[in-house]
Amino acid sequence: MAQSFEKKILCIGAGYVGGPTMAVIADKCPRYKVTVVDIDAGKIAAWNSDTLPVYEPGLLDVVQRARGKNLFFSTDVPAAIAEADIIFVSVNTPTKATGVGAGMAADLRYWENTARQIRQCADTPKIVVEKSTVPVKTAEAMAQILSMENGGNLFEVLSNPEFLAEGTAVADLENPDRVVIGSRQTPEGVAARDVLVEVYANWVPREKILTSNIWSSEMAKLAANAFLAQRVSSINTIANICESSGANVQEVSRAVGMDRRIGPKFLNAGVGFGGSCFKKDILSLAYLCREAGADAEADYWESVVRINEHQKERFVRRMLDAMFHSMADKRIALFGFAFKPDTGDIRDAPAITIAGRLLDEGAVLAISDPRALDGARSVFGDADGRVEYVEDPYEAAKKSHAIAVLTEWQAYRDLDYTAIYAAMEKPAFFFDGRNVADHAALFDMGFNVYPVGMPAMT
Ligand code: NAD
Repeated sequence: MAQSFEKKILCIGAGYVGGPTMAVIADKCPRYKVTVVDIDAGKIAAWNSDTLPVYEPGLLDVVQRARGKNLFFSTDVPAAIAEADIIFVSVNTPTKATGVGAGMAADLRYWENTARQIRQCADTPKIVVEKSTVPVKTAEAMAQILSMENGGNLFEVLSNPEFLAEGTAVADLENPDRVVIGSRQTPEGVAARDVLVEVYANWVPREKILTSNIWSSEMAKLAANAFLAQRVSSINTIANICESSGANVQEVSRAVGMDRRIGPKFLNAGVGFGGSCFKKDILSLAYLCREAGADAEADYWESVVRINEHQKERFVRRMLDAMFHSMADKRIALFGFAFKPDTGDIRDAPAITIAGRLLDEGAVLAISDPRALDGARSVFGDADGRVEYVEDPYEAAKKSHAIAVLTEWQAYRDLDYTAIYAAMEKPAFFFDGRNVADHAALFDMGFNVYPVGMPAMT
């Protein structure tokens, strides 16, 4: 006899958010059936294997505990919609174009397609949960699309943005700082909201589940990402002045971050933020500002992205200045390609821009990363033999003129740099774009050391 479940939950979009989020819901709520669908059959096959399409510490264990029992991955979107009580929408919402300036609206085409598909396949009431990060008032548009032909009474749309960070997704989902659920303030809206509150209350303390109106919930997500990115750009502007003034940005960050009003997180200077969210969400926020006629506010947020672009270019300039203004045919080892440690995600990684600029300057690259080499290969291929992908950082560094650390993987803190120095061309340069190394020790070994936010040691 088929097992009966208390609730049927569906997530459309089996990416970095949809997959881990649903795996944790299934693991925490064995009484619910949780299905995750995607139009990408390869991705679904990977979710059904032991080589998941997303690398996150602890994720495979969570998936293996629930898969086949109450967690299912499928490409049959219509059947999954038809049976679901709650439908999370976690499809990608990129910006329409890259760059800074007016007109960088979020591209909601995948989102809109999903809404239309839900409308076509559903004939029982559904709670539709906006999980993707979307501009304020998107839920209203979704409700409009859904309500056509159905008299508006079949669907209730909620906003429930995801705040997980890649690299710590499972821990963030199991123990979130907060869960935000936005709803209409009507009896139907409040009833649907309470159903979702009940789902999270299976493992999240009630006081951490915040309810609000829909637009506050949508805005809270954009604002949170904008604030985090702004801290990174702020410390990077300070770092750049430290380099010429003799101050040390790590000492400055520590002193600033110990102020309880400020706090220590997101105050590490480096080559800038990456990932699929910060830039797109800030540009989406800036677009909303412009739409509202708030140009000064839009300029303010766009400057966070501008500083981030500047930071990458500034790093390359510093390399060029140090290496006698020529990269031509010099082998450079890149330590790290992922946009942050503990993930294989390379979307908008600073390494893409920096590696591209170094290739333009004629360098030969040896790219090393514990998780992101396939991603790196998908960007550069073999670039006419000018890019090599090397798992082992010792191999990457061999015969290179310089090392540039672009991702703060723990492994790069623990290497035998004496052996690495011995195998490099001389003079050997070390550009620490994430300030992971013991700079004084490297200098004593013979390296010319260029940390971010501290004077060079040459
Ligand atoms: P992703 O690209 O990894 O996954 C999105 C998935 O949706 C893809 O696999 C795609 O094939 C699928 N898809 C698109 N249209 C579909 C359709 N019509 N039917 C079925 N599947 C469809 O994206 P992601 O990183 O998981 O992000 C999803 C959303 O969550 C975005 O809005 C993002 O801004 C937001 N978000 C991301 C993070 C993060 O760390 N990645 C964190 C919080 C919020």
